[in-house]
Amino acid sequence: MSISIQGPEPASPHIESHPLSLAPLTTFRSEFLAWCRANSAELAAHTLPHPDYETRVIAARSLQRVLFDAGWSRFGWPTWVGGLGGSALHRGIVFEELSQIGWHGPAIFEHLEIIAPTLLEFGDTDFVAERFPRFLDGTQSWVQGFSEPDAGSDLASLRTRGVIDDGCIVITGQKIWTSWAKWGHTCLALVRTGSTEERHRGLTMVAVDLESPGVDVRPIQQANGTYELAEVFFDEVRAPIDQIIGEINGGWAVAMHLLAHERGTLAWFRHNHFRQRLAQGAEASTPVEDAALGAAIVQLAGLRATAGRQLAVDAAGGSLGPTAAFTKLLMTRLEQQLYDVLLRIHGARMGFGAGNADDQLLHQEYLFSRVVTIYGGSEQMQLMTLANRVLKLGT
Ligand SMILES: Cc1cc2nc3c(=O)[nH]c(=O)nc-3n(C[C@H](O)[C@H](O)[C@H](O)COP(=O)(O)OP(=O)(O)OC[C@H]3O[C@@H](n4cnc5c(N)ncnc54)[C@H](O)[C@@H]3O)c2cc1C
Repeated sequence: MSISIQGPEPASPHIESHPLSLAPLTTFRSEFLAWCRANSAELAAHTLPHPDYETRVIAARSLQRVLFDAGWSRFGWPTWVGGLGGSALHRGIVFEELSQIGWHGPAIFEHLEIIAPTLLEFGDTDFVAERFPRFLDGTQSWVQGFSEPDAGSDLASLRTRGVIDDGCIVITGQKIWTSWAKWGHTCLALVRTGSTEERHRGLTMVAVDLESPGVDVRPIQQANGTYELAEVFFDEVRAPIDQIIGEINGGWAVAMHLLAHERGTLAWFRHNHFRQRLAQGAEASTPVEDAALGAAIVQLAGLRATAGRQLAVDAAGGSLGPTAAFTKLLMTRLEQQLYDVLLRIHGARMGFGAGNADDQLLHQEYLFSRVVTIYGGSEQMQLMTLANRVLKLGT
């Protein structure tokens, strides 16, 4: 069956959910699989490995467009933002099945899973309804501007200023380690609108257009040769007041909501790729590595169960809360364990100057696995969150 998504621009609260979003998930999955089979030639082009980031971004946008036009990337999002209804479980199925046919991941559109739920929860309705469809269809991408040179783990000490002036918020300061900023259109920036002493109570979240006058994005070259990260400078950059996400001085709650998705539900999307890599490793494994690979498989099963639970909580409208820190710990530990084993199995294939495109990707992924205990809050911060907020130790 091909789903019908003809009609006007869908950002209207009056458009009803697509019937498939109300059908059993098994039906949704089988319809999606049937579409994948019918479009296997086009999808094959989108599952090629792209070690070069410029090409990867173009491919990610292109696939996002294909999925949008066919309707599949619109499931899991409400109709008032251009979605077709359904929940995070629908998105989870689409990503899982794409991974099964060799897709390498959403690249810049991983932020759909991190940022978009927070926009829906806290953003100005008109602003979000206008911008969201372009995010979904691959035309525009969003980035997350929280960290600063002197404010990472201690995020509440950040200093980028936001001053309310004549219907705008005027931003001055610097962000760093902003993923995908080189290709981003809008930065969700956490800025200080209150005093330094107010710490997390004096922060506001604002969507800043990266093409605004006064914005300077300076990509940072990483050890794996890529430019995924960047510094972003703001010099009296003006953003309209309706681009404030949540309340003025209420940005901390917005940031925590977003981070819970980055630590929690994102794991569902990332673990699918790990499954593919594990399967690939199993084919090449020797008896010497089988035990280590087996241990990684067990870890992956635990991560899958935990991430799946977070996805179900999100789909039911529940709060992910601090337990997302547990999912992040499982995810990053598994990722490091997995790529350690893969390095032993594949050996020189994964080394510097590796051969074909997939080998080069494996090499990049191995190096990236070394830093995963840092993004979204370091491992130590996740452990502290679990100790203080889940286990209530030291309170
Ligand atoms: C690949 C990658 C992508 C990223 N993407 C983004 C992004 O898109 N947007 C964004 O805003 N940021 C991003 N970051 C930045 C990331 O959020 C920060 O690097 C992280 O929060 C740690 O901050 P920091 O680098 O300042 O290190 P620091 O906070 O200086 O920490 C250094 C070390 O000290 C430890 N430490 C610090 N305080 C304590 C404490 N109280 N108790 C115990 N140990 C402590 C930390 O665990 C860490 O090991 C990214 C980082 C990476 C690696």
